[in-house]
Amino acid sequence: MALRLYNTMSSQVEEFVPLRDREVRMYACGPTVYGYGHIGNFRTFIAVDMLQRFLRQSGYSVHYVMNITDVDDKIIRNAAQDGVSVQQYTAKFEKAFVEDAAMIGIEQPTLVRATEHITQMADFVARLVKKDIAYRTEDGSYYFRIASFPQYGKLSKKDFGGMLDGARVDLDEYDKDSARDFALWKAPKPGEAFWDTSIGPGRPGWHLECSVMSMEELGETFDLHAGGEDLVFPHHENEIAQSESLTGKTFARFWFHVRFLLVEGEKMSKSLGNFYTLRDLVLKGHKPSSIRYLLTSVPYRNQLNFTFDGLKQAAVSVERLRNFQQRLSTGTFPSGSNPAMQSLAKDAGDRMKTSLEDDLNTAQAQAAIFEMVRSANSALDASEIKQDDVPALLTALEKFDEIFAVLKDDDGAKMKAVFDWASSEGREKDISAELREAVQSGRFSEAEIEKKIAEMETARRGRNFKVSDALRSELTGAGIVIENTKDGVRWRRK
Ligand code: AMP
Ligand code: ZN
Repeated sequence: MALRLYNTMSSQVEEFVPLRDREVRMYACGPTVYGYGHIGNFRTFIAVDMLQRFLRQSGYSVHYVMNITDVDDKIIRNAAQDGVSVQQYTAKFEKAFVEDAAMIGIEQPTLVRATEHITQMADFVARLVKKDIAYRTEDGSYYFRIASFPQYGKLSKKDFGGMLDGARVDLDEYDKDSARDFALWKAPKPGEAFWDTSIGPGRPGWHLECSVMSMEELGETFDLHAGGEDLVFPHHENEIAQSESLTGKTFARFWFHVRFLLVEGEKMSKSLGNFYTLRDLVLKGHKPSSIRYLLTSVPYRNQLNFTFDGLKQAAVSVERLRNFQQRLSTGTFPSGSNPAMQSLAKDAGDRMKTSLEDDLNTAQAQAAIFEMVRSANSALDASEIKQDDVPALLTALEKFDEIFAVLKDDDGAKMKAVFDWASSEGREKDISAELREAVQSGRFSEAEIEKKIAEMETARRGRNFKVSDALRSELTGAGIVIENTKDGVRWRRK
């Protein structure tokens, strides 16, 4: 079997074979850095992260590039309002994006900034002008001549037969249904930030950024281009038009689009009060691992409805996986191997792989690992697991986590970082009692502490001092005082 992916261009699920042997070149449209990323953004970024993780796991080397849009209409407007430079304004949010992506378990792609490719963008426009595909207007802006690209609409399957030649749009915010000559390059308006270039003063349009940077990093034709479903038109349609009319070659071979996230059944919007940045959720006391788990629980093309109930369930699921891993790695087992356990682990691994190969069916992959955990937990209770079964089961779990990335118990430190950030920004009022408690009481809830102490005692009694000492120092590190009394172990918070 091989990986099969839905390709928006062909409207079909196709076998994914990269152009170069064992090497995948892929690009995702990244954030526009004028605010903190919301959970819809992160649904998309996590889906692409899982794709690249799975490609690596499948043996490919992956060159994954993401742009940072650090100049656009809104950025220029907001920076001017705040009286700071574009660079000062965006630096803060770019840093926040990098931190948030790491917090939610995204492996960092190669990041490229629009403002560092201005010269190349001006050159690109000049080349289009030379071919008469772009034209300059009186004010010094440049537009793409849509009539010069008859295939326009091939990605979004829109029919632009009757479009107006020469009708223009110069905003980054589009009327979704009309094809207009779009701005490649915008002349500066009075008081606006601009760059002096070979084609005159101004700044690049958003579509141009992605064409120039993706081809510079990955070549004129690369394997896969990704983004949220809203980008199909006009953004990706325009990227194709610019790139292909210049090179005469296919731009991206696969188009990977992630369905929009709903929150409590509705489209996320500030006016509905259901708009959440990642940091908002952590401020409410939710763990990053629960958020990631929930965002991965529905395949990327299906509707995912983010609810707070779902988030609670996700936390329980992650906890179950971590407990299972802990039970296996701290327990003592009789020597030998149990064929039933060996095949349980192998089947789970195989099912995970075939599920992910099936257009990244993450829900099925999760179901596969949970079935394994359920059966193996029963086997643990019945003392049916032998020493040689442990590595096989742990390996299946690790393979799962190479993609899903929720097992490492570092939520406490990440939540503390958000707590510190909110405090430094003077946003104490946004820190929930839950987050405050989680941070103040160290990393663990009471139930987690009890559990860890029980494990520590089991390990000590089994003379597994390495494990018992590790658990003890983990607890003391989190501010828990452990005392041995004649009635057993007592604990309290410092
Ligand atoms: P932006 O920062 O607005 O340019 O968006 C960054 C990425 O997030 C793009 O790929 C968008 O398509 C994607 N995106 C925005 N809103 C949502 C949403 N509600 N659900 C999923 N993806 C989204
Ligand atoms: Zn883009």
